[in-house]
Amino acid sequence: MAGMDIQAPHTLYAQRRARLAAQLGPGGIAIVPTAPERPRNRDSDYLYRFDSYFYYLTGFTEPNAWLILCADGHSTLLCQPKDLEREIWDGIRLGPAAAPDALGVDEAHSVAELGQRLPRLLENRQTVWFPFAIHPGLSAQVDGWLQQVRARVRYGAQCPEQQRDLCGPLDEMRLIKDGFEVATMRRAAQISAGAHIRAMRRSAAMLRAGEDLREYHLDAELLHEFRQHGSQYPAYGSIVAGGANACVLHYRADAAPIRDGDLVLIDAGCELDGYASDITRTFPANGRFSGPQRTLYELVLAAQEASVAATRPGARFTDPHEAAVRVLAQGMLDTGLLDANKVGTLDDVIAQRAYFQFYMHRTGHWLGLDVHDCGSYVEPSEIGTVSERRDPLSGEVIKDRPSRILREGMVLTLEPGIYVRPAPGVPEAFWHIGIRIEDDAVVSASGCELITRGVPVAPDAIEALMRG
Ligand code: MG
Ligand code: ZN
Repeated sequence: MAGMDIQAPHTLYAQRRARLAAQLGPGGIAIVPTAPERPRNRDSDYLYRFDSYFYYLTGFTEPNAWLILCADGHSTLLCQPKDLEREIWDGIRLGPAAAPDALGVDEAHSVAELGQRLPRLLENRQTVWFPFAIHPGLSAQVDGWLQQVRARVRYGAQCPEQQRDLCGPLDEMRLIKDGFEVATMRRAAQISAGAHIRAMRRSAAMLRAGEDLREYHLDAELLHEFRQHGSQYPAYGSIVAGGANACVLHYRADAAPIRDGDLVLIDAGCELDGYASDITRTFPANGRFSGPQRTLYELVLAAQEASVAATRPGARFTDPHEAAVRVLAQGMLDTGLLDANKVGTLDDVIAQRAYFQFYMHRTGHWLGLDVHDCGSYVEPSEIGTVSERRDPLSGEVIKDRPSRILREGMVLTLEPGIYVRPAPGVPEAFWHIGIRIEDDAVVSASGCELITRGVPVAPDAIEALMRG
């Protein structure tokens, strides 16, 4: 990718391909296309983003490319041919002649030969692997190639008998990050932390100057810092929510005014060389928490601390969530958000999910090439262990399977929150307050490491930062 500071050595991608090839079974072959370009309007495309699986296996960022990998480890890349005229408009292409040296693949050809090469490559294989339900039209394309193989049966060609989902083995590989991935994610996290600091400072400075502060002003600060440090783009649509907008979970940075006395919730992270970061901070727009804001902020922070303490190898993915919920639910009782006379004890609040009124999302997700990264949340060896329960709120039957056991090298977010919408019985002092605190945790040998703490999280530290 243009502008990358540190290129992964192509041996790293070759190692990943070899590990995947070893899982394809005798006669296996894998087909991995990259993402298509998508038109935004007439002659203008959306900013191109490669497919994460394809990139994970090649490090190659051009569109119109395919990786074909055989069980014996042989790799074939199909990519855009050199074309002087197209390159004048769209930029330099690597081209098939240079690809083997640049990417470490065994052979490379023009993508124009896809339809002619694939049926031949599929001949005499037993299993065709490709990512299911990711690329629209891909399975029909595979069917078309298999039809051509079948048409050659009379010449002795054998047609593959099985199709399997390549996401299975690839998701397991991507779930455990290697040293290069963690190093890249660390750099992405640092840039994003700097961006949050910049937005906090701008907010306080504009309000001090009596200026008309809008959500987009803070979004601009984020983008500036991301690009200034070489991030290619935000990892997801930045949330910049002033005041009551913080209670809209998927709000985007818009044009709403941010007023003195409001809290601002920013959920934003950059993508760097393919890897996402994901940080949420909530801060007082003017740099000083009010009493009720600080009360709820400290509650969410305590919940996050509990979730951090619960994140270590051998724990379950759901342990941090359960730890956070326990702290939040107790806090809801203590602050009067929930009335113990109505909802009962802490255990009742948890069992009946009464906390859901103010905390309705999970405490985290995997993080990696995708901001909600791939990887099963169920422990693979225990997938058959099912217990059923009825959801107390929706009444639907939920099948619980044992949650994933955390292992060193997994990366997940820890992001408890509290969102108070006006309702009868809810103390008015807390109305419209929405708070989330989110950090990115790498599971280490003994616990976890938060790689996003370049931006402070303690209320006093945030106030100090916004004073200066
Ligand atoms: Mg987030
Ligand atoms: Zn997140």
